[in-house]
Amino acid sequence: MLKLDFHPAGRHFLQIPGPSPVPDRILRAMSYPTIDHRGPEFGALGLKVLDGIKKIFKTTQPVVIYPASGTGAWEAALSNTLSPGDTVLMYETGHFATLWKKMAENLGLKPEFLSLPGIEGWRRGVQPEMIEKRLRDDAQHAIKAVCVVHNETSTGVTSDIAAVRRAIDAAGHPALLLVDTISGLASADYRHDEWGVDVTVSGSQKGLMLPPGISFNAVSQKAIEASRHAKLPRAFWDWKEIIEMNKQGYWPYTPNTNLLYGLAEALDMILGEGLDNVFARHNRLAAACRSAVTAWGLEIQCADPEVYSPVLTGVMTPEGVDADSVRKLIYEHFDMSLGTGLGKAKGRMFRIGHLGDCNDLTLMAALTGCEMGLKLAGIPLQESGVAAAMDYLTEHVAKPELKVAA
Ligand code: PLP
Repeated sequence: MLKLDFHPAGRHFLQIPGPSPVPDRILRAMSYPTIDHRGPEFGALGLKVLDGIKKIFKTTQPVVIYPASGTGAWEAALSNTLSPGDTVLMYETGHFATLWKKMAENLGLKPEFLSLPGIEGWRRGVQPEMIEKRLRDDAQHAIKAVCVVHNETSTGVTSDIAAVRRAIDAAGHPALLLVDTISGLASADYRHDEWGVDVTVSGSQKGLMLPPGISFNAVSQKAIEASRHAKLPRAFWDWKEIIEMNKQGYWPYTPNTNLLYGLAEALDMILGEGLDNVFARHNRLAAACRSAVTAWGLEIQCADPEVYSPVLTGVMTPEGVDADSVRKLIYEHFDMSLGTGLGKAKGRMFRIGHLGDCNDLTLMAALTGCEMGLKLAGIPLQESGVAAAMDYLTEHVAKPELKVAA
């Protein structure tokens, strides 16, 4: 039986690719008393988070915030823009792309699933030329939307969203572009407006460093126009009334007040650090992590260095070694949670999350736990990954950003 009162010494290392550890500052902010969601204080909070979150998506257009997990925001993106029987072009980058496609089927859409053969598609990002070719063949414009995942959390592979936009434009196709950056936002560079994305879907529990429970749709004017004619049934997810009430900082229902306190604090932290600094920190930690995996002599799930994820690294275990048994060993001995392999990658890989509130020593501790666990599992390692990562971090020192007020 699970012993919920069991508390090992020290703090747990939550190194899964989301939920990521919630900083104390955010935990404290969320402990403020819950207030009247129709009162004046709430309106100020609502306006603050609705304005601040636009900077994270890099948009001047509305961002809808739902009291729901990312899956809800997936459904909102589809149901606000599409009608029963519509064809949607989706791309299989991994487990989450597959789940989104399943949802499209369940909603009565007709998804077409592009992919590279076998497991190859789970090791590379979206191939924009495949999208362009399919759209060029669609002379009647039966395809109403292209749906892709920006940071595939199941594999540690990103996709070039600007290139997908260029592919749609090159084909001269009017399809909407819907992008899931649930695990990419606030960790990997993302530009909703500049990249011409119509709906961006995201969630709270990854780069934003919040607990699970709120999710987002950033929308374009073209998406709002599409929502006026979209016939998929929707009520709770409908953008119209939410966007209208958001103008004053309110919602048509009871929003997740305490998570919004947390969001306000997260925005202060991220914008205070500066988005470019946040991305640089993630890229540097990800590169250090990869240097450890390479030193161990293990393979990285992402086979294309151009699209390595700054959020997580997928580590493939040697043939015949069950990755979940290594994870279990590490959890039991070192109180650290690593991400499991999902779908087609089950048992073949584990995932190291290095996102959100993560710094050099957090990463080094995580890699130490991995190295000790790999040794305990009897996996022969070429060299010390911990030493390699330390070398990387000391050879690529981050500029101290501490600013002490005079
Ligand atoms: N899409 C991606 C890329 C994800 O990483 C996740 C969750 O990890 C989801 C969708 C589903 O989001 P949620 O579990 O918050 O419903």
